[in-house]
Amino acid sequence: MQITKTNYLEYTFCKKNLWLKKHKPELFKDIELSEFEKKIIEEGNLADKEARNLFPIGVLVDSHGQDAIDDTKQYIAKKQAILFQATFSEGLFFIRTDILIYNQTRDGYELYEVKASNGIKRKEPHHYINDLAFQKSVIEKSGLNIIKTGVIYLNRDYQRVGKIDYGQLFVDVDLTDEVLASQAEVKKQMIEIKEFLNGPEQKGCECLYRGRRAQCTTFTYSNPDVPEYSVHDINRIGGNKKILNDWIDRGIYAIEDIDNSESLKGGKKIQYDAYFLGKPIIDSVAIKEMLDELVFPLYFFDYECFFSAVPIFDNFGSYEHIPFQYSLHIMQRDGSIEHKEFLITDPKGDLTRSLVERIKQDIDPKGTVIAWFSLYEKQRNVKLAELHPDYADFLETINEGMFDLMTIFSKHHYVDADFKGSSSLKKVLPVIVPELNYSDLNISKGIFNSFNF
Ligand code: SF4
Repeated sequence: MQITKTNYLEYTFCKKNLWLKKHKPELFKDIELSEFEKKIIEEGNLADKEARNLFPIGVLVDSHGQDAIDDTKQYIAKKQAILFQATFSEGLFFIRTDILIYNQTRDGYELYEVKASNGIKRKEPHHYINDLAFQKSVIEKSGLNIIKTGVIYLNRDYQRVGKIDYGQLFVDVDLTDEVLASQAEVKKQMIEIKEFLNGPEQKGCECLYRGRRAQCTTFTYSNPDVPEYSVHDINRIGGNKKILNDWIDRGIYAIEDIDNSESLKGGKKIQYDAYFLGKPIIDSVAIKEMLDELVFPLYFFDYECFFSAVPIFDNFGSYEHIPFQYSLHIMQRDGSIEHKEFLITDPKGDLTRSLVERIKQDIDPKGTVIAWFSLYEKQRNVKLAELHPDYADFLETINEGMFDLMTIFSKHHYVDADFKGSSSLKKVLPVIVPELNYSDLNISKGIFNSFNF
C-alpha cells in the first residue's frame, strides 16, 4: 500500500473514506466526476504547469514511480538548482513535489506547493500548512534539509492584458514558521494513518450525525440501517445539531419515527408536513404577492460562462466567469413566448462587447428580468458594466429589477417533500418538470465546460 499526499489530506478529512478507498475500491468504481469537477482538476494541473514559467531554469522530473525517485536522487546529487515534480518515498509514503529549489548559501532546499486557488486554505481537506508539513517530513527522511516552505497561488487581483505576466499572476507566501509549528502533529498523524489503514474496518461513520450535504457516496454502505429518505434530508438539519444528534442518539433515522415534530420550525416543518401529506404545500397568496410585482414583458434570462485558473482573455482574471452566451425567453402578457439567444463567435478584441450590445437590443428594462439564483447573473452584469461603462446604467437597471425565481422555493412558498429540503435547481426541476433532466443539460449554474471557438 502507498500513502500519497492526497491520501494524507483525505485522512485528515475523513479516515473512514480513505480506509474504504484503500480496501474496498469497488465502492467507488461507479462514481463519475461531474464535468465541473473534471474542469477544476484540469485547471489545477494547468496552474501547476504555468507556475513553472516563474523558474525558467527548472528541470522537470518527468518519469514515474520508482524511476522518478531514482531520477530525483541523481538531480539532487548534482545539486540541480530547481526541480519540478521531484519525487520521494519513505516507507509507505510517496510524494511528488511541485517546486524544489536548492539554496546554495544555506545549503538547503526551499519547497513550494503550487495551488490553483486565490488564497491560503487552512481547513481540511485543503489544509496547505499540513500539506507542506507532510511533504517536508517525507523529504527530510531522505536526508534533505528543508529550510523554507511556501505556497504559490493565483493572484485574485490580476487581470490579463496581452501576454501573461507570470510575476503578477502568481503570489508566493512564506509559510515556513506555520509549517514548522504543525510538523510535530503531522508526524503523529503519519504514524496513526498507517495503523488506521492496516487496522480493521470501523463500523458506521461520523456522517450519521451530519446533514445529507456533508455525506459522501459511501454513506449508505456504512450506515445500512438509514432509509433512503431519512432525517438527514430535512431542510438544513446539519446546522441544527441539537435536534439531529438527539434523533440519532435515540435511533430515529426515518421521518416516520420522528416523535417531536413540534420542535421543527420554518422550512423543516413544512417539509415534514408535505412528506406526510403526500403532495406539495404551496402558499399561493405569498407566491401571488411576489409575482404581482413583475412587469410584462417578462425576460427569462440565463448566462453561460467560461472560467479558467490562468486567464485566457484580456480584462479577465483567474477564475473570473466570462459570459459568452445567453438564452432569453420573452413572455408577453397574453402568454406568448419568443426565444432569443446569443453566442460570442469572435473571441478576439473586445470579447464581451457584442454580447452587451445584443442584450440591449433584446431587453427593454421596463419589463422584469427573471433568473434562477439571480445573484450569478447580477455579478456578471456588474463586471460587464465595468468593462462597458456606456452600458452601465442599462445593466444596473436590469440588476435593480431582477427577480430571482429560486426565492419562491428558498422562502418555502412551494415545498415538495421530494425536493429533500433543497431549493437548488438540481433538486427542484426534476420534481416539478420531470421531463427536463438537469443532468442532461450539461451545465452547473451557468458554467459551461468547454469553450470551442
Ligand atoms: S459518509 Fe461522511 S463520515 Fe462516512 S465515509 Fe463518507 S465522508 Fe466519511
